[in-house]
Amino acid sequence: MKKILSVILALALMMTAVLAMADTSYTGTADSQIGGVGAVTVTVTLADDGSIKAVTVDECKDTPGICELPCEKIPAQMVELNSINVDSVAGATLTSDAIFAAVKNALENGGVDTTALMEKKEVVVEKAADETLEADVVVIGAGGAGLAAAISAEQNGASVIVVEKMPKVGGNTILAGGAVNAVEDRSEFAVKQNDSVYWHYWQTLNGGDWQGDPELVMTLVENAYDAIQWTKELGMEWLGEEAVFTVSGGLWPRAWKPAMVAGTGFFDTYTKYIDKTDKIDLMLNTKAEKILTDDTGAACGIIATGETGNTITINAKSVVVATGGFAKNVSLRMAYDAIWGTLDEKVLSTNHEGATGDGVKMLQALQADFVQMGNIQLLPLGDPKTGSLSGNIEHGVDSRIFVNKSGLRYGDEGGRRDDMTRDLFAQEDALMWIVMDSDTYPTGDELNNFGETANQLVEAGRAVKADTLEELAALMGVDAANLVATIDEYNKYCIGGELEGQADQFGRTLFGQPIDNGPFYAGARVPTVHHTMGGVRIDTLCRVYNENGEIIENLYAAGEVTGGIHGTNRLGGNALTDTVVFGRIAGESAATGK
Ligand code: ADP
Repeated sequence: MKKILSVILALALMMTAVLAMADTSYTGTADSQIGGVGAVTVTVTLADDGSIKAVTVDECKDTPGICELPCEKIPAQMVELNSINVDSVAGATLTSDAIFAAVKNALENGGVDTTALMEKKEVVVEKAADETLEADVVVIGAGGAGLAAAISAEQNGASVIVVEKMPKVGGNTILAGGAVNAVEDRSEFAVKQNDSVYWHYWQTLNGGDWQGDPELVMTLVENAYDAIQWTKELGMEWLGEEAVFTVSGGLWPRAWKPAMVAGTGFFDTYTKYIDKTDKIDLMLNTKAEKILTDDTGAACGIIATGETGNTITINAKSVVVATGGFAKNVSLRMAYDAIWGTLDEKVLSTNHEGATGDGVKMLQALQADFVQMGNIQLLPLGDPKTGSLSGNIEHGVDSRIFVNKSGLRYGDEGGRRDDMTRDLFAQEDALMWIVMDSDTYPTGDELNNFGETANQLVEAGRAVKADTLEELAALMGVDAANLVATIDEYNKYCIGGELEGQADQFGRTLFGQPIDNGPFYAGARVPTVHHTMGGVRIDTLCRVYNENGEIIENLYAAGEVTGGIHGTNRLGGNALTDTVVFGRIAGESAATGK
């Protein structure tokens, strides 16, 4: 008996010890400005001595392409430093803030005193030695154009180093809606769509007020369909013909959709390719500062700053500049803007933090020629808090309308992006609502172009939903009678309406199903700086020109850093086409020395 009792006692003591040593987990949530209420949910596990044992982000509803890196890095740092006061991830400050807030919320929910854990720990970063590297081709920027160029250069036999200043690949391209305008000339589908490569060419030039260079535009549209096939050969998945649609400001249903959300499919594909080859070296957190030239003025490499502040010299036979645009650089956009009057910091932007025009500065130092720098594109589709494209409930042009704060339509929602944005600036508070019905969201759980469902957006307070238009108007804070009358009038032009086939009072011609099928949805939007269409002068081989009209040898550029393709106004769906088409060409030219 005694023996049994002592065994039981020993077991009980062991159990208590185990219990005393048990970790405790707490969950918390945070509202991020991008993702809205409950955008981030975390679980924090503390060891029995109160130290941080694990942090996991269980849910992050922020923009795909932004949220992955902070969700991985911040928890790891918190555990490593045993502090919840760690640095934000560059380019993802809002998501970072949401993770910090959710962690704090978790601990406070559990009644944990966070004073000690809030202590900021010094992270000592030892400066790595300066180094000199060699490659056939060095590419500056790991966005859409840069990675297309890197892969194309490798396919043409070159060894490649890509430098990217941010901690991740993707640039603006990964945040884009993902659509690619492309026509397979004379195919059955093109004929059915009344479309052709020439019509795409004409609309691109006309949509940019004939300021685009016809040769560059022809290169864009002629190679567009093949560009999609090239990404398919690399392994990228695309939706079929049934998903082809008209992007806002795209003017025609010729936009193909990747299978993965937003621009993420490109980078999933490109990085898998890069991982498999040993001929492309991708260096993140590495900022190009200067393009090197030899005695003859030909480009021969770059100087960059590495992650620890060390200097990295890369000698190369040719250099591809793919640094993107400057929509996040307020002083540059104010200095160049020729369209809007003011683009000060009050005007938000869709762009990622790294879109600061570094390429412009590096190329200016070489007396490169710049074209149409004043052509800056705004969209009427920004999130009212952040300017981001995410949260946009629309799918395609023909199924939605824009109404102002009085509940009235005010322009052609199928028109050019600059016209739509000008119209929006003229409305009260430059704010409008996109209104649509459940033809697009039969259950509310269908995804928009950014991987969000209408129901999630409603839950997050970023959209409203109601069974009747009167209830919707109340949630929007607009006059109900105006909204009902506006939609009644609009529906007359839609499929089955008494005025079907006619243009309406605003000149709109793209109409789909009427808005008459509840529940109804509305989401608010504001003007936002989107794309800088001016840039360095290139030719159809992506060779860069100087101010005297001469080629700068061994120097190539592609993507948003270049100018002269889109004129005054870029068609929706042409930007990603541009990155793949010209990225591929720049890579080939750089590898083969064209
Ligand atoms: P594009 O559509 O033309 O490819 P993106 O915005 O997608 O443009 O990509 C441009 C990339 O270039 C971004 O990832 C950006 O961070 C990167 N970048 C910009 N300036 C530099 C620089 N000085 N050094 C390295 N990378 C840079």
